[in-house]
Amino acid sequence: MTPVPPAAGEGRLPHCSRRGFLGSVAAAGIAALAADASAAARPADPAGPGSAAPGRIPHEVQDHRCIVVGSGFGGGVASLRLATAGVPVVVLERGRRWPTGPDARTFPSASAPDERALWFRSAPEIFGRRVDLPRYTGLLDASVGENMTSVCATGVGGGSLIYQGMALQPTEELFRTWFPGAIDWREMDREYYPRVSRVLRLAEAPDELIESRPYAASRVFADRVRAAGLPLRKIPMPIDWDYALAELRGEMRPSYTNGDGSFGVNNGGKHSVDVTYLAQAEATGLVEVRPLHDVRAMRRSPDGRWELDVEELDTAGNVVRTLTMRAPALMLAAGSVGTATLLTRAAATGAVSDLPESVGDGWGTNADRIYAWTDPTADFGAVQGGPVVYGSLNWSDPTTAHTVIQASTPPFGPDLHTTMLVGYGVSADRGRIVYDPAQDRGVIRWPAAGDSGIRRHIERTARTIVGPSSHLTDTNAFVNSTWHPLGGAPMGRVCDIDGRVLGQRGLYVVDGALIPGTTAACNPSLTIAAIAERALDRIVRHDVGGVI
Ligand SMILES: Cc1cc2nc3c(=O)[nH]c(=O)nc-3n(C[C@H](O)[C@H](O)[C@H](O)COP(=O)(O)OP(=O)(O)OC[C@H]3O[C@@H](n4cnc5c(N)ncnc54)[C@H](O)[C@@H]3O)c2cc1C
Repeated sequence: MTPVPPAAGEGRLPHCSRRGFLGSVAAAGIAALAADASAAARPADPAGPGSAAPGRIPHEVQDHRCIVVGSGFGGGVASLRLATAGVPVVVLERGRRWPTGPDARTFPSASAPDERALWFRSAPEIFGRRVDLPRYTGLLDASVGENMTSVCATGVGGGSLIYQGMALQPTEELFRTWFPGAIDWREMDREYYPRVSRVLRLAEAPDELIESRPYAASRVFADRVRAAGLPLRKIPMPIDWDYALAELRGEMRPSYTNGDGSFGVNNGGKHSVDVTYLAQAEATGLVEVRPLHDVRAMRRSPDGRWELDVEELDTAGNVVRTLTMRAPALMLAAGSVGTATLLTRAAATGAVSDLPESVGDGWGTNADRIYAWTDPTADFGAVQGGPVVYGSLNWSDPTTAHTVIQASTPPFGPDLHTTMLVGYGVSADRGRIVYDPAQDRGVIRWPAAGDSGIRRHIERTARTIVGPSSHLTDTNAFVNSTWHPLGGAPMGRVCDIDGRVLGQRGLYVVDGALIPGTTAACNPSLTIAAIAERALDRIVRHDVGGVI
């Protein structure tokens, strides 16, 4: 049901006939439908102007068999595999749907972002720059913590909507060094990594594209890496590159070939989770994805079921309905910070007793670094094709393994002889997420010198690649940020390796929060999805029919 924004000062039911509303209510197995004075009187967002008038917001109680919170990689895998096993699933996603191309204008432009860029509860900043945008359920959520800002995406498809899509698989040596030994590498390599690669239809950029004018920066990067004697390879991406070739022929408006996809690719051809895992899940008829459903709290009810407080929003962030949703099985897939927030809040408020003490721990950044690379002697082009073609994978030593890639910068106008380098690598440094009642969110606590060991390796490699004619600006020195938050409910400490939260029947973590703080010098999404595929195989085999 698509929520319709209430008219000014008028909180009311979503727009549908009473009969239609009651029909859908019955189908969802609603146990009670009542105006809940306490929920209605609670301000939806004390800080925001968008709260609907108190006392007028409808409230429902619904019962389900399995609820998934979050619709990124973990949520997509979980909903498809559970539905394939015959389990009806409701997926709650706080963000909106972002339907895409060809030639769509769904996503904002990176060079001129508007309110679609920012989630309304986010810190008001985009990649560290303060912005003043109208309140909207937009794409980016910046979580500012101690010594670290973590950036993630909101919307049906989660991070896959705005990620560049780099999909690297660690080597056996790397995987064995950084993941629990109880996970069989051979099985991951034989079954789960290839399974995700097939669903996301990973492919490398074709030479015909790389040789075109907009991909000059990719060619310069490749030449410099080769000249430095460092390893170079194309990076597999979840992209149908024919779209980019069609742009070159002038058949579509540029979206890949002008590097303007940092807030989502408007042209289609990007195999994000909404059009792959979730579309397949919805096609089973057993999965209902509910966008604009923000889960605010979780608890265990006296009968042992999981109970969620949910706010249904319009795109301005107004609450149009509140729900209590109950199920015997709850899969947390709200991303590392989102899942850790729900768990640490539940532990701190006593809403769930006996959660493992390590909830919030084992949080890592994947050692992300973002550099601006300026070289007056290099012809990167004012318009740079993207998102990413090449990377230098320096993985020979599993204790210092790191990757440096070149990514296009958005078309900002004049040619500044500048492009972007991104580095990430292994690191044993960890922070934690701690619930702050004053802000009602999980706050990252990151050590000031965190990742400094691997940073030296990444920076040395980046400087070797760019050479003496260049200037490298480490943007993390100004705003220490990560796009790759991992951990907070890591396997082995908070969960078992299949994602079951220890001592909590029917509660699972299947997203980046389950990963032990690093994805071993690789971008995280492929490993998050492969670990989720592995977990879901086990959960379907052992828990469906019993716990679920
Ligand atoms: C700019 C950028 C570029 C990136 N590039 C790459 C890349 O090239 N390759 C790569 O592998 N990774 C990349 N990443 C990282 C990648 O996107 C994440 O690692 C991945 O999406 C995490 O998957 P997940 O399933 O843990 O959670 P997510 O994909 O983050 O999904 C979590 C979902 O849960 C929703 N949610 C959160 N809280 C709630 C709540 N309370 N109620 C309801 N819904 C909620 C969120 O809105 C979100 O949609 C990038 C990230 C960013 C921000």
